[in-house]
Amino acid sequence: MPPIISVSGLSKTYGSGFKALDDISLEIQRGEIFALLGPNGAGKTTLISIICGITNPTAGTVTVGGHDIFKSWRATRSMIGLVPQELHTDAFETVWATVSFSRGLFGKPKNPAHIEKVLKDLSLWDKKDARIVTLSGGMKRRVMIAKALSHEPQVLFLDEPTAGVDVELRKGMWEVVRTLQAAGVTIILTTHYIEEAEEMADRIGVINKGQIILVEDKAALMRKLGRKRLKLHLQHRIDALPPDLAAYKLELSDGGCELTYNYDTKGERTGITSLLSDLRSAGIRFSDLDTVNSSLEDIFVSLVRAP
Ligand code: ATP
Repeated sequence: MPPIISVSGLSKTYGSGFKALDDISLEIQRGEIFALLGPNGAGKTTLISIICGITNPTAGTVTVGGHDIFKSWRATRSMIGLVPQELHTDAFETVWATVSFSRGLFGKPKNPAHIEKVLKDLSLWDKKDARIVTLSGGMKRRVMIAKALSHEPQVLFLDEPTAGVDVELRKGMWEVVRTLQAAGVTIILTTHYIEEAEEMADRIGVINKGQIILVEDKAALMRKLGRKRLKLHLQHRIDALPPDLAAYKLELSDGGCELTYNYDTKGERTGITSLLSDLRSAGIRFSDLDTVNSSLEDIFVSLVRAP
């Protein structure tokens, strides 16, 4: 099946001369949850704004549903729902009026049954007559999603959907996103929270300094770049590591009571056997040991740190 969004050779230099995007090419498949990860200022919002037709690129092309976004702006824009970072709604309107009005903005005929379904899916039905100003922050966010879904888009962009949201609410938001995917909506979310990408995404793209530095199936990414950590809990605390063990690049923590060794699960040798033997020779004994898989966070940090 052709991708629902295709971005090719996209660059953006702002009027200030700052190059926010540098030759980005990316394809989003129909029905997937794609997480765009990147540090502050990496270019995530700029990329989304271009795809949604809000910002003009300096170079490159974007198609949505096979249509060029510049030649068919109206058609492609109506295929997209956007939930921006900032919450802005008319505080004194009701939930129902706000969401219904949004649909009208896309020139779609009234469809109360659809609005009802959206509000029910987002657990907002019992708030339909409440004024926005009376809602909690989490509810307001869900209203923003409802607005973005009011015109039945095929693609939903969520720009930092859970920024500043507490853990419980964040999990609720993940549930909402999963429900939307099950209903056939393609979802692109940007996030700083690695755990969010790890939890939600089918594929992950990492953007840094305006360039896509990686796009990978999440499971494959975790496997491919997966490193493990061996933690040794020492019987007796040590002040420093013997120089003979320098090659293992061990980390000493917990006041000298814990040693951590990083190794590559894909490597020919893990080095664990020789490490344990060298530790014994050095007179360092341990009372327990465990291994920990490296998280996406470790992978991400190592990627964006690379020169
Ligand atoms: P964050 O995670 O902080 O939201 P982001 O990845 O979404 O960051 P963008 O908002 O796309 O990043 O910004 C990318 C870069 O472009 C930043 O350095 C930003 O300062 C710059 N930038 C964004 N908008 C403009 C503008 N209108 N004029 C000049 N520079 C801009």
